[in-house]
Amino acid sequence: MFGRAALLCVLLGVWIGARPDAAARPGGEKRGDADTKPGPDAKAGAGTKSEAAPDNPWARARDPSAGPAGSIGGYSSGCLRGAGRLPMRGAGFRVAEPERRRFFGHPALIDFIRRLGRDVHAAGLGVLPVGDLSQPRGGPAPSGHASHQTGLDADIWYVNGAGKSWPPKKVEMVDLERQKTTASFDRRVARVLALAAADPHVDRIFVNPVIKRELCAGAGKARGWLHKVRPWFLHHEHFHVRLTCPADSPDCRPQEPIADGDGCREVDWWLKPRDEADRSEKQKEYRSRQGVVPLLPAPCSEVAPR
Ligand SMILES: [Zn+2]
Repeated sequence: MFGRAALLCVLLGVWIGARPDAAARPGGEKRGDADTKPGPDAKAGAGTKSEAAPDNPWARARDPSAGPAGSIGGYSSGCLRGAGRLPMRGAGFRVAEPERRRFFGHPALIDFIRRLGRDVHAAGLGVLPVGDLSQPRGGPAPSGHASHQTGLDADIWYVNGAGKSWPPKKVEMVDLERQKTTASFDRRVARVLALAAADPHVDRIFVNPVIKRELCAGAGKARGWLHKVRPWFLHHEHFHVRLTCPADSPDCRPQEPIADGDGCREVDWWLKPRDEADRSEKQKEYRSRQGVVPLLPAPCSEVAPR
C-alpha cells in the first residue's frame, strides 16, 4: 500500500531535490522557497538521477554501519553512517510503526525526539506517535519517501488523545476537500509545533497549508516560531521535522535558508483557487519523478550494505 502521506513524503523529497528554480512570490516571498531549491546535492557529485533499482540495497540493511555518526549528502540524496536507534518508547513519545524499522537517525535526531517528547509530556500534551525516521543506514527508501535519507528527517503524527489507545490512529487535522480544519484540530497542534520549532537544531517543519493558516491566525505577537513552519501538500495527519546539518557531519549538505519572516503571506498561494492550475502543474512534476532515486555521494559507498 502506498498511502497519501507516504506519497507526499516522496513528493516532498523529490521536490526538494529536484526543483530547478524558485519563482519569486508576490510580496517578495518565494513560492516553496528554500524547499524547492535543488541544493548543492544536485551539483556536487550526487547530481544525476538514475532509475531506482528494483532491489534497493539500502532497504536490506538491518543495522547501522560502524564508524562515527555522520549525515552524508543531501536530505534526498544521501546516507547515514553510525546511526542511532530511537527507543520504542520514552517520555512523551512512542514509535508508531516499529515493523517498518525506520526508527534510525543521526544521534542529533534521536536526541531531538527525546527532548520533544519530554517537553510534550511535561506540558501535558499527550504522547507523540513517531512515524518514519530513516532506514538503518539512511539512503533512499523503496517506498514512502524521497527524503529521510540522512537521518535528519522525522515524521511525527499529530497527537489526539494519544496514549489512551495503542496502536494509535493517524488523526486528520484538515479536511482536504473543504480546506478546513477538522473537529480534531485543537490548540495542542500549535503547542506541539511551537515546542518543536523552538528547538535550535530544527531547520524547518512541514505542515498542511490549512494548518499554517490557522497557526498564523492564532499567533499573537510571539510569532517568530512560525518562520520554521512551512506549508506543504498533505501533511494533514502528520508533520515532518527536518534538522539542520550536525556539527559532526562535514559532508552533510544543508538546504537553502528560509526567507525571513513568519511565512504567513505565502499561504495564499497554497490555498487560493486562482493558483490551482499552478499547484497542479507542480504536483505533476513531482509525480513524474517518483521511483527515481539519486546517485549518492561517494562516501556513501563505505556505508552501503554489502
Ligand atoms: Zn516525512
